[in-house]
Amino acid sequence: MCVDAYEIESYYALSLDPIHIGTGGSRLGRVDLPIAREPGTNLPKIPGTSINGPARAYTALATNRYFWKENNQEFSCAGRGGEGGERHCGKINPACPVCVPYGFSKGTSFSIQGLAQFFDAHILFFPVSSMIGTVWVTSPMVLSGLGLQSEFIVPDDRFYPLGEQVRNKNKLNFGWLMLNGGNGQGNLDALQQVPDIIKQRAVLVSDKLFSHIVNSNLEVRTSVSIDPQTGTAEEGALFTYEAIPRGTVFKFDVTYNSGEIFKIGGKEIKAEGNGNVGTSWVKTQVEKGLRLFEILGIGGMGTRGMGRLKILNL
Ligand SMILES: [Zn+2]
Repeated sequence: MCVDAYEIESYYALSLDPIHIGTGGSRLGRVDLPIAREPGTNLPKIPGTSINGPARAYTALATNRYFWKENNQEFSCAGRGGEGGERHCGKINPACPVCVPYGFSKGTSFSIQGLAQFFDAHILFFPVSSMIGTVWVTSPMVLSGLGLQSEFIVPDDRFYPLGEQVRNKNKLNFGWLMLNGGNGQGNLDALQQVPDIIKQRAVLVSDKLFSHIVNSNLEVRTSVSIDPQTGTAEEGALFTYEAIPRGTVFKFDVTYNSGEIFKIGGKEIKAEGNGNVGTSWVKTQVEKGLRLFEILGIGGMGTRGMGRLKILNL
């Protein structure tokens, strides 16, 4: 029998709320709580670790491993499992649907990295309002990352319509920026995971302009910290934060490694009923968590109505 050692799955996701994934600190600048960015391009992104964390917690919720007990022992397979992973169950036969896909540590001879590896989510299509309604911008670099249209070179003062609904427009007015239309032909048909309504209103701009448009159209909100004692605003507690707007389309990859080739502490990893822990078993457990992104959200500011992310190809 042939066993796949690993499988790479690409996920497409749509933000249903603004998404705030912080950098873990504040900086001196325009906003108090900036979002994570790709250093080379300055484009906002969702780091793989910020996908892994909530996916783990939600798989734990979906499989009753958030807090659970066995033989009077208490476990929590979500999160870091205490100081050094001591609250992770670390069960490999039958395999824990959380600890095996996401990893655990029970001393040096009995730990695994996690059979699922999460990569950063990058912006594919970014919504911007214009005189002709909302359009979704993308760029040659973004599309070439998908293996599409890498041959395009768009001048910095032009846009190329990609979708039906923007095909005959020769001007695109963002209010603060006016672009002339070019006659590049695009075809996004191969991107079946992306909703038609977005593809029909997609426009291509240069890589440089893409970064500029995205960074100029992030949500910047002002909020106040509430003192939990009094229920009123804390003094000097006004702060601003950035977020990626709702309607943004992202793509991220997850690599699923097979557990069939591993032995931990001399023991094989086996699923319930002595089943195989192949790539599809790992994927099934992770997708139980990814499915909840749409309801429970990711990132910070969840209590301020942010963070819900719908995975489009589950
Ligand atoms: Zn566990």
